[in-house]
Amino acid sequence: MTKVGIIGGGLGGLTSAMLLAHKGFDVHVFEKNDHLGGKMMRMTLENAQFDFGPNTITMPDVFQRILQKTGVNPDDYLQFIKLETHTRNYFSDGTTFDLSTNKEEMINLLSQFEGEPAKEQYAKYLREIERLYRLSDRYFLHRTFTSWRDYLSPDLTKALLQVKPLQTLDSFHRTFFTNENLVQMLNRYATYIGSSPYIAPATFAMIAYLELMDGVYYVKGGNPTIAEALAKRSKELGVHLHLGVEVTKLEVSNKEVHAIELSNGDQIKVDEVIMNGDLLSVYPSLVAPEHRPSFSEKKIQRFEPSISAFVLLVALSKRFDSFIHHQVYFSSSYKEEFEQLFNKKQYPTDPTIYICNSSYTDKSVSPDGDNLFILVNAPTSSTPLDLEQYKQVIYKKLKRYGVDLVPHIKAEMIIDPTWIQTTFHAYQGSLYGPASNKMKDAFLRPANKARDLSNLYFVGGSTHPGGGSPMVTLSGENIANVLISKYS
Ligand SMILES: Cc1cc2nc3c(=O)[nH]c(=O)nc-3n(C[C@H](O)[C@H](O)[C@H](O)COP(=O)(O)OP(=O)(O)OC[C@H]3O[C@@H](n4cnc5c(N)ncnc54)[C@H](O)[C@@H]3O)c2cc1C
Repeated sequence: MTKVGIIGGGLGGLTSAMLLAHKGFDVHVFEKNDHLGGKMMRMTLENAQFDFGPNTITMPDVFQRILQKTGVNPDDYLQFIKLETHTRNYFSDGTTFDLSTNKEEMINLLSQFEGEPAKEQYAKYLREIERLYRLSDRYFLHRTFTSWRDYLSPDLTKALLQVKPLQTLDSFHRTFFTNENLVQMLNRYATYIGSSPYIAPATFAMIAYLELMDGVYYVKGGNPTIAEALAKRSKELGVHLHLGVEVTKLEVSNKEVHAIELSNGDQIKVDEVIMNGDLLSVYPSLVAPEHRPSFSEKKIQRFEPSISAFVLLVALSKRFDSFIHHQVYFSSSYKEEFEQLFNKKQYPTDPTIYICNSSYTDKSVSPDGDNLFILVNAPTSSTPLDLEQYKQVIYKKLKRYGVDLVPHIKAEMIIDPTWIQTTFHAYQGSLYGPASNKMKDAFLRPANKARDLSNLYFVGGSTHPGGGSPMVTLSGENIANVLISKYS
C-alpha cells in the first residue's frame, strides 16, 4: 500500500487525503494545530460562533464534486444556502449599492449610478467576465503544474493571451463603468486574491462572474462545516488524522523524501509527501538548502506576499437592522489605500471595512445578537501596529456610517497578521500565499511539485491555481489526480 504523508490539514491537504484514501492509499495527515481546516476555522466568543477565514463561499460545486467522487451524496454532508442579495456596499459619499445575482435588480441599481447605458453595459460586462471565467476554468484551474514544461504548452500560451493579462483590473472596469463608486466596488475583487486592482491583471474579473452570476453561498451551521465534512469523509475512508503534531523535518537522500520527522520525535517512513503548509515558509523550514537548490532563500524573497488582515471578532447583545450577511464600508480613496498597503507597507489610515454577520442568515450560530467578523486589509506582519488604537479607528469609522457598535459589545477578540503567521505558519501573515500583482505571480504561481525532490508535491493557496477556498480545494484534487495516475 502506498503511504502518503500530508503536512497540514487545511482544505488543500484534506481534499488530497480524502480522494487518495478513496483510491486505496494509506494516508496520514499531520496538523500542528488542534483543529482541521487550517485558515477555515470555527471560533467562539461567549454564545457567538464565527467563521474565521472564508466568509464568502463561491463555487459550491467544487466541494460537492469532491465528496461525490468518494461515492457519497454531498447533500448529506453540506447544505449550501445561496445568498441572492449578498453584499451591501457603503460609499464615502453616502450612497449604497446592494450586490445581487438578480440581474433585474442589478440593472435598476446600476441605472441610478450610470444612467440609461447601464443595461447595455452590464450585459457586455457579464459576457466578458463569463468569457474570462470559462477560459480560466478550461485552461488553468484544473491543470497541475509539476514541471517547467507544463508552463510551455501551446494551448496554455494561447489561452493566456486571451485572458487580458496585460490590462489591470481597474482599467478593465473603467471600460464598462464611469461611476467611481461602481469601479471601487468591482475593484475590490482584487483583494480576494490578496492583490491590488491597480496592478493585478483583468483576468481576475472572473471572480466577479462567480459572485454576480454563479452566486455567493453560506453553509448551514457555518462555513467551517466544509472542512469538517472533508475531515469526516476522510476519517470514514480510513485517513489517519494526527492533530497537534508538527512536522519538523523531511529526511532526504538521493533527491527523495524518505521520512517525515515529527515534533514528538517520531519518524514516519513515507512513499509520497504532500505539503499543504504555506510553501514559502514551510518548505524552507523542513528541507535543508542543499536539497532544494531551485528554491533558495533568494528566490523566496523575490515573491511578494499577498495582503494580510486585521480582524475583529465581535459578539453583540443586539441585532442591527442595517446589517445583512456581507457589507463593505469603503474608504474615500481606494488608490491611496493600496498605495499604503503595498508600496508604503502601512496600515490604511482610512481602511475599507468588510463585515460578515452570518447570524443574519443563520440565527443559530449567534442566538443573542449579531456575530461580526470585521476585516480590514493589512500589510504583512513586519509592519508594527498599536492594536487597540487601530481598533478604535475602525469603530469610529463605523460610527460615522451610523453603526455604533461599542455600547453593545459583549465580547471581542483582535487578530493581527502576526497571529495569522504564527497560527498557520503563513508567510509574513499573508492570507493567500504570493500576491498576484506581478504577471509572473498571477500566471506562473509556484509549481505543484518540488523541482529538486522526486516525491514532494505542493497544494494550497501558495501554489497553483491560487488562494481562496475553492482554488485550494482544486489544488488538492489536482495533486490527488497526479498520484492516482502515477500508481494506476
Ligand atoms: C482572514 C481570512 C479571510 C479569508 N476570507 C476568505 C473568503 O472569504 N473566501 C475564501 O474562499 N477564502 C478566504 N480566505 C482564504 C482561505 O482561507 C485560504 O485560501 C484557504 O483556507 C487556505 O487553505 P490551504 O489549503 O492553503 O491551507 P491552510 O488553511 O493555510 O492550512 C495549512 C495548514 O498547514 C498547517 N501546517 C503548516 N506547517 C505545518 C507543519 N510543519 N506541520 C504540521 N502542520 C503544519 C497549518 O497549521 C495549517 O492548518 C481567507 C483567509 C483568511 C485568513
